[in-house]
Amino acid sequence: MVETLSIAVIGAPGVGKTSIIRQFIYNDFSEVYTPTRSRYVYRPSVILNGSMYELKVLDVPPISSFPSSSSQEWLDLRCRGVRNANAYILVYDICCVESFEYVKMIRQQIVEHEGSSSEVPILVVGNKRDLQRQRFMPRRAVSVLVKKTWKCGYVECSAKFNWHVVLLFKELLGIAVARGLRQNHTSIRLQGALQRNRCTIM
Ligand code: GDP
Repeated sequence: MVETLSIAVIGAPGVGKTSIIRQFIYNDFSEVYTPTRSRYVYRPSVILNGSMYELKVLDVPPISSFPSSSSQEWLDLRCRGVRNANAYILVYDICCVESFEYVKMIRQQIVEHEGSSSEVPILVVGNKRDLQRQRFMPRRAVSVLVKKTWKCGYVECSAKFNWHVVLLFKELLGIAVARGLRQNHTSIRLQGALQRNRCTIM
């Protein structure tokens, strides 16, 4: 029996959501930008502290807002599964202030949806750390805002150079496990999960 965790990866177009996911699962990176038009689900497995978890990672295409109701979620295919995700990765580009504003809006909407007592793990990720010189705000200032005011985790990474990519998933899973995963046990085919590039030991 393996615990499953559904993670929605949300962010403005072009911030590197797909690149982060593909770097994490396939150790693959492309300079060519192919906009994500429809929702895509990846199902890697990971081993953290000796326990195995099956992840359902949703690469969410650009959405104007967090789905406010189940019917909105069902009417808009891009949003399917977003409201019931167990955890969120909100990605912005450290060189693009608009992408940070987008993350700020989505975080607020998640909090409103979940209610003030919510424990849903949210990790804010500043991507494109390799372009550090063009950043719009010092790392420390963003980190303090996100951690102290928003009460979210914060990690900076570079999908391009595979820097801190495993770390960010490890961080999120660590928070989720500490807060108690939803009881969502399922039996999985260990052989499939352990296929090359599908299982990461963190
Ligand atoms: P998405 O729309 O958020 O899924 O963004 P993509 O993953 O498709 O990436 C958008 C563009 O940013 C692509 O051209 C990527 O090559 C580039 N990119 C993604 N991550 C990084 C990064 O860490 N550093 C740099 N310099 N470029 C990146």
